[in-house]
Amino acid sequence: MDLFDQGPVPPAARVLVDGLSDMALDYAIPQGMQGVVRGCRVEVPLRGRVATGTVIALVEPDAEWGHRLRPLTRLLAEAPVVSPVLMDLAEWAARYYATPVEQMIRCIVPEPVRGERHEAKTQKLITLLRRPEDDELNKLNARAPRQASIVRYLLAEPEGAAPLPQLGGSAALAACRSLEKQGVVSISEQVVHRDPAAGEQYSLSSPLELNEEQAAALARIISACDAGETQPLLLQGVTGSGKTEVYLQAAAHVMARGKGVLILVPEISLTPQTMARFKSRFADQPGAVAILHSAMSDGERFDEWHAIHRGQARIAIGPRSALFAPVQQLGLIIVDEEHDSSYKQENSPRYHGRDLAVLRARMEGATVVLGSATPSLESLLNVRLGKYSLLRMDHRADGQRLPLTRVLDMRTEPKDKRYLGILSERLRMAIETRLRRQEQTILLLNRRGFARALQCPDCGFVVSCAHCSLPLTYHLTENRLICHICGYRSVVPQTCPDCHSRSILLEGYGTQKVEAVLRRCFPEARIQRVDADVTARKNALREILERFRARQTDILLGTQMISKGLDFPGVTLVGVLNADLGLCIPDPRAAERTFQLLTQVAGRAGRGDVDGEVIIQTYTPQSAAIQYARRHDTDGFAENELGLREQFGFPPYTHLSVLTARSPQEDLAAFALQTLHRHLRAALPPSVELSEPLPAPIAKAYGQYRYQCTIKSPQARLVADTVSREIARLNPGEDIIISLDIDAYSFM
Ligand code: ADP
Ligand code: ZN
Ligand code: ZN
Repeated sequence: MDLFDQGPVPPAARVLVDGLSDMALDYAIPQGMQGVVRGCRVEVPLRGRVATGTVIALVEPDAEWGHRLRPLTRLLAEAPVVSPVLMDLAEWAARYYATPVEQMIRCIVPEPVRGERHEAKTQKLITLLRRPEDDELNKLNARAPRQASIVRYLLAEPEGAAPLPQLGGSAALAACRSLEKQGVVSISEQVVHRDPAAGEQYSLSSPLELNEEQAAALARIISACDAGETQPLLLQGVTGSGKTEVYLQAAAHVMARGKGVLILVPEISLTPQTMARFKSRFADQPGAVAILHSAMSDGERFDEWHAIHRGQARIAIGPRSALFAPVQQLGLIIVDEEHDSSYKQENSPRYHGRDLAVLRARMEGATVVLGSATPSLESLLNVRLGKYSLLRMDHRADGQRLPLTRVLDMRTEPKDKRYLGILSERLRMAIETRLRRQEQTILLLNRRGFARALQCPDCGFVVSCAHCSLPLTYHLTENRLICHICGYRSVVPQTCPDCHSRSILLEGYGTQKVEAVLRRCFPEARIQRVDADVTARKNALREILERFRARQTDILLGTQMISKGLDFPGVTLVGVLNADLGLCIPDPRAAERTFQLLTQVAGRAGRGDVDGEVIIQTYTPQSAAIQYARRHDTDGFAENELGLREQFGFPPYTHLSVLTARSPQEDLAAFALQTLHRHLRAALPPSVELSEPLPAPIAKAYGQYRYQCTIKSPQARLVADTVSREIARLNPGEDIIISLDIDAYSFM
């Protein structure tokens, strides 16, 4: 074949095919598809079938092969679906988190949008063309009553028009067609926007007059937005300081300048109020605020996504995954409750939504605001290092005082045996008082703690590692306590090392058991339990919270779910049943999470006119997390905790990652991880600390044995690159899954 006769080789499209991990294939760009650019979604021929994919680059194909490339079959949408910035973000995140780019693109182009298979939905719109005379209508009524009633219905509509479903659906179609023939109505097709908030009424709210602290924070945010400053702003404002009002006014400002806003919230079903406040504030601009979350139907997600992509919706609100929303001309990103661990995705790709939001803002030239009453230590350290600037709001907007917090030492508190040690006498009496005064109570059960640590019920002592000061994890097979960070082993003590009590045991109780105790204790009270079982049904949580707001519930009992962003004026008592459990897990952020949880939940009390009270039951009243939370002392806690993290070399001073091997066969999982561990030890510099491979604290899940080791490193990149390379070299069999969790938030 004469290669030189065929002229120059035209550019080809390098396509990342959906579902093929990171296999990129080159395709010729046929006539009529010259508009193809990076970020376009396309259909391509692949092994006798048609596949979909994303164009990741235009390339100059090799002269010999260029003319033999197969052409793209179809362009799925005229404009690129993925913007250049989001393509860059996907590539950056893929490398940082050692995950295929294709997986990141999957986050950016959500399932309903991928194949463009969900068509826009249409319905028939019936419009009145003329107003019939009275006697004509009477005659019609005698001859065809159904037609007459349709005409009367349309007469009453402001626009003289109604969609067919409102007129009786397909049963009314014949009557409408007949009216159309008589020239009374017209029938047209109308695109229906499937609105997840349809049926909700949002009445317009006007901006509140800001207090001094709020005004200063807003001014700073606005000037950053106007100047296109990309240094992240950390808004540290106590619970109830009016952060949401600041977000609303900042968003309005940015929108008025023709730019878009992205708002991330921890989990939308847990923070319905934030969404409602945005919908209300912009109620005069219908369609301006789009919601994205996983509980929506595919159709709703498709429509909301396209409304954002077209630039119709200027504000997008959603949880973690919404950080990839295609907001046009992004001017501002707000990450509400930035400390919340739900921003970290716990399955592949294991990215951190807050961290990627900061990166996206920088790439887009947008301003990012991270808001919290209890900022993460990561963000606080960034303030200290001068990477973020700090805005503070130290007072409640409504002038209320922060609630009085009492810490009850459960080792010495009087308890009634009938209540299984779950309720102290003092908490029981406090609840009873609220019931009598018709005030509301929130009871929080801290269940994050997976009870594998040993805690003494008499003195509260938790058996910890001498080198890491983290609780040791009990391993049944070896009958040893083992540290998951450094591998330290200890025999299981028969008596408490501190007080020599013989009753040292594994702690733990569930929400259902506590609910039963509460019902026995307060037979008259209206009690509602909130946990994953109850809220599995769509809208269940919303209904529960609405009933609670309407004061149809006296006591709300739940896990950390109920500690987020809720604002109920009727709540005057918050009880934390077991503050310790969160401290008993082998996790360097255990104290931080406990502090945040207690501080956040305490912020729920006393939002109305009556002062609030918070009661914390604990076996470890002296622990720093509990003491600082009692005093609402975020700065003190941060100071203390950062000192410890630095001393033990934990995040945010290092990157702590978890490497896990899973297999239905235990020896395969163990062998794969041990082998990989040996290779990594040789490949990584001594500054990277690898822990010994061990069964994970949750040693078996979903039928798979789990082995893991932790990797502590000054840099994440080095770990990601080296581990990816070594996994590829090891080429483990089909029965073994190896995963790397960079900057891990879970060590179970
Ligand atoms: P945060 O998000 O910081 O916890 P919120 O935004 O929920 O606080 O505000 C707490 C309460 O204070 C809300 O009921 C809000 O309407 C009210 N609020 C906020 N700003 C003001 C203000 N400037 N004047 C009066 N009330 C305010
Ligand atoms: Zn003890
Ligand atoms: Zn240790």
